[in-house]
Amino acid sequence: MSETPMRARAVVDLAALRANVRALRARAPRAQLMAVVKADAYGHGAVPCARAARQAGAQWLGTATPQEALALRAAGDRGRLMCWLWTPGGPWREAVEADIDISVSGLWALQELTGAVRAAGRPARVQLKIDTGLGRNGCQPADWEKLVAGAVDAEREGLIRVTGIWSHFACADEPGHPSIQAQLAVFKDAVAYAEAQGLTPEVRHIANSPATLTLPETHFDLVRTGVAIYGISPSPEVGAPDDFGLRPVMTLSASLASVKRVPGGHGVSYGHLYTTPGETTLALVPVGYADGIPRAASGTGPVLVGGKWRTVAGRVAMDQFVVDLGGDSAHVGDEAVLFGPGDRGEPTAEDWARATGTIAYEVVTRISARVPRVYV
Ligand code: PLP
Repeated sequence: MSETPMRARAVVDLAALRANVRALRARAPRAQLMAVVKADAYGHGAVPCARAARQAGAQWLGTATPQEALALRAAGDRGRLMCWLWTPGGPWREAVEADIDISVSGLWALQELTGAVRAAGRPARVQLKIDTGLGRNGCQPADWEKLVAGAVDAEREGLIRVTGIWSHFACADEPGHPSIQAQLAVFKDAVAYAEAQGLTPEVRHIANSPATLTLPETHFDLVRTGVAIYGISPSPEVGAPDDFGLRPVMTLSASLASVKRVPGGHGVSYGHLYTTPGETTLALVPVGYADGIPRAASGTGPVLVGGKWRTVAGRVAMDQFVVDLGGDSAHVGDEAVLFGPGDRGEPTAEDWARATGTIAYEVVTRISARVPRVYV
């Protein structure tokens, strides 16, 4: 049974997403654009967001897991598509047959992949990843020669085609961080070495959203933009979405499930962390941590009710939390807006990030499947 859209909803403005993709393409005019739609498009819905991004000219889609990439193919996407988070025993053959660009960070992956290619009977598209300093996935520079040699051999055998060489920044959201130039230098060396060995990648790429927005020298052939296509700034240091012509795509709201007068001294929600300071009106917002509202918002999260910002009173529970309206009145069914673009005076995802000690990426991505997405 589908849930009534009246309890809560995440309205996803696909026109805003398309406009954001166009704005980002204009910022990186010589590069192709990869719309990063991993984690269900940062909580916005992978398939509709992928379609909207393609409509706005995204030449590539990017996902973390191969399952996410295969789901996009199953939904009908036929464009260039890359995924980068592989583990042993992954669906190599399915990915090759689905024409997905496969990121390879080490020899173990190249070996598993080439084994699968022999069974598939067609070469794999491979993008070699170098760890230029993030210290996460990617081939260590000390092992790069071996990985490149393995790729050159596999290409000669007709098992793979190296379509890309790429890396990922650690601190691009902190403008001027010294690691940015250091990573860039390692990246350029790694590309030059691979090309000197005879590899001819179509795309070289390292830029995520903050680098796309602020560091044109990092754009190379392709930019991989995630958070910015959803209209969210990577960090306050980079700027506000508006500074770059970006518009937040998701608006999260809920309908008040209870409004009641209570006397002063009334404890509110588990643990009674909040006690009403006097006779007041309490309104019940029917979303909680099962919907992805951080429990860390207890006592801090901002919500627009009746044209004013209120603060979560007491603990966020699994399915609900309370706001104190003071002397204001409201009615059951009135809208409580948790975050959105800010046009109606509502908080933004950035405001929620500040209030709960996290980043706006997490605020939108964690909104759970229990909240229906409504596409406009
Ligand atoms: N590229 C890779 C490898 C990523 O993991 C991510 C997201 O974390 C991105 C690009 C997109 O980053 P952003 O959302 O900052 O644009």
